[in-house]
Amino acid sequence: MAKIHEITLIPGDGIGPEVTGAAIKVIEAAGVKVNWDVVEAGAKVMDEYKTPLPDYVLESIKKNKIALKGPVTTPVGSGFRSVNVALRQAFNLYANVRPIKTYEGIPTRYEDVDLIIVRENTEDLYAGVEHKIGDYAAESIKIITREASTRIAQFAFDMAKKQNRKKVTAVHKANIMKFSDGLFLECARNVSKEYGDVEFEDMIVDAMSMKLVQNPEKYDVLVMPNLYGDILSDMAAGLVGGLGVAPGANIGDEISVFESIHGSAPDIAGKNIANPTAAILSGVMMLRFIGEMEAADKIDAAIKNVLKTGKALTVDLGGKATTSEFTEEVIKNL
Ligand code: ATP
Repeated sequence: MAKIHEITLIPGDGIGPEVTGAAIKVIEAAGVKVNWDVVEAGAKVMDEYKTPLPDYVLESIKKNKIALKGPVTTPVGSGFRSVNVALRQAFNLYANVRPIKTYEGIPTRYEDVDLIIVRENTEDLYAGVEHKIGDYAAESIKIITREASTRIAQFAFDMAKKQNRKKVTAVHKANIMKFSDGLFLECARNVSKEYGDVEFEDMIVDAMSMKLVQNPEKYDVLVMPNLYGDILSDMAAGLVGGLGVAPGANIGDEISVFESIHGSAPDIAGKNIANPTAAILSGVMMLRFIGEMEAADKIDAAIKNVLKTGKALTVDLGGKATTSEFTEEVIKNL
């Protein structure tokens, strides 16, 4: 009998419930059995729990070890830190993995892009160490440690090896931030020596941005500190069709949370027009992680097929299909 998985589901805010709803439907239609533990977080629980991240959310994730998550908004001026950052730090989800891939049928200027951005997820300017200096200045402290830099570099090389990828590029600005980014680069270089069969190169983040726009197909696995990863992964999503098609995963040693790159997109929320591809593909990453390879391959192939025929493209990709029409089409193609 098929295994029943226990998975935490955080529908999230804005388009979150629509796109995670689509992902669940597709996962179940592919034959995977899941007991979803649905827990709400974000703006909608603020009034009742006085926090966007109530304890029950943390407890559910701690118990199940795996979560599928929609975008969660931290109300501006609420005094709370970002729920996303808090989750990553609470469970030490140190690797943020963001695959960027062209799918036939999505209108873009590029072909054959297939790269993975591995973003360090716990430190850098996201450590939240900042303060005002009177009302005339403010400081944010960029924290880069040997431990976290070595760990993320090892993660990137291990992933490259496992997936038969040829090259790891470390992205940095060590020419200016000699100590912090210098340490990141030093760690990546040291780790690269243990993986002789994977090519290693490093690139300054500004040059990397230009080269990604010019020739994204030349890159394979890119590893970088938190902030550059945030910016370059949105940019790279734009190369292959936008935020609607870019999935992601936050991986730690014990717990992993799968979520699209995009936010809650309040402008299109509740209209049944959001593109659920990113959320469904995040689900595919989750299925591979929990060993449901056959279902993952089936869903991936169905999405490829639907996009290729162009029959049910959503509005962001220049089509007219609704979220539910696209989802139904994927299910038909399973
Ligand atoms: P947040 O503050 O929660 O990150 P945001 O509006 O600043 O939200 P995103 O939600 O990431 O940023 O997205 C920016 C824009 O991209 C959205 O307003 C929306 O128009 C578009 N977008 C994002 N995700 C999708 C999607 N899945 N389908 C279609 N369009 C999307």
